[in-house]
Amino acid sequence: MRAFTASHSAALTHCNAWLADDARWLDAPRPGTTLGIQKHGLMQAEVDGSDAEGSEKAHDAVGAFRPLLDEVAMLGDTIAEVSLAWSPVADEGRELARGEGRGAYARLQPGEVGGTADLCVLAVAESKAYVVDYKSWAPGVDVDAREQLRTLALFVSRAYGVEEVEVRTGLMGESEGKWADVETFDYFDLEQIAVERAEQLARPIGPPVPGPGCRWCPHRADCAVARAAVDALADTVPAEMLARSHKLSLDVVDDAHMEWQLAMIPLVLARTEAVLVATKAYAERKQQAGTPAVFADGREYTNQPTTVERPALEELGAIETIRDYGAEGAIRMSTSWDALDKEIGKEKAGELRRVLHDAGLTRSRVQDSFRARKTPEMKSAKKRGKGRAS
Ligand code: SF4
Repeated sequence: MRAFTASHSAALTHCNAWLADDARWLDAPRPGTTLGIQKHGLMQAEVDGSDAEGSEKAHDAVGAFRPLLDEVAMLGDTIAEVSLAWSPVADEGRELARGEGRGAYARLQPGEVGGTADLCVLAVAESKAYVVDYKSWAPGVDVDAREQLRTLALFVSRAYGVEEVEVRTGLMGESEGKWADVETFDYFDLEQIAVERAEQLARPIGPPVPGPGCRWCPHRADCAVARAAVDALADTVPAEMLARSHKLSLDVVDDAHMEWQLAMIPLVLARTEAVLVATKAYAERKQQAGTPAVFADGREYTNQPTTVERPALEELGAIETIRDYGAEGAIRMSTSWDALDKEIGKEKAGELRRVLHDAGLTRSRVQDSFRARKTPEMKSAKKRGKGRAS
């Protein structure tokens, strides 16, 4: 049970198979990129004056984040990189160490679990604390630290006896910092989190259950279920590329990471395209067999080929007709209805479309159109519902 730390909270919500291997993961190297570790070190140095080195990129990110740090530091006494212990049985917490990170977990007592807050701000007179977790970020990156922050809020409340904890994620971009997931937990919320975590930790160890938390699971490299997902890529991505410690990310760390990403992208795109083709073929086979593929909400994923038409520039008279409408600017190697709309407006283009169609100056082709569609039963049930409401 000691192997659980706050950073594993998301995995714990859907799977506890990895808890079977007691304490093994506490010694695992700290996850994260070199740049991320440098940013954390520099942020710690900003608060407690410790020594830290970082690349220019890391310094830029910390500089961009500094105004936010100043804002939260005004709220009370700051503690950087504080490691905490919590006992699920007694529902009691304590401070383990400051500035030691994961190294402090060696001092966890049997039955205790641990967690480290990147920054804790204590306003004891108000019985309130603030917890900040720093995450590397770039526009478009999805960062979800909510479960980790909920656990840290619990640990902080129990360690310092405060009844309210406000948590937030400090998103550190290359030249921009911002807050995310700002949330306040009161006495009752913290009680609820304590019960939740105690129950999760007391669950009998079960088989691996994959879910979004696999991303943060300490067991990921060894887990048969997670391994199977990686193996599924083995036929398109060479093993030596998967073995590198890089990950596809919007936060490009260094030149080696950039090179790896550029090599991976065509492989991933090819794989995605192949998966899409196979998925549509599966849906089509089911549709032809009379048992369409069905989504969980009841919609059927089917192919309803549609006919699309385009102006046939190769037909004698087509170009002249388009010119007569003043739409010659839309003619390149070919043209489309969209281009004609843009050139002469929808109304005039609509009239031109009818003229071209009636004169046989268009080409048509049938193309596949896969979509999830509501069944007639679903549509009439909705209509009936509306009827009742009105
Ligand atoms: S990687 Fe495996 S053990 Fe870890 S959370 Fe996912 S399924 Fe569970």
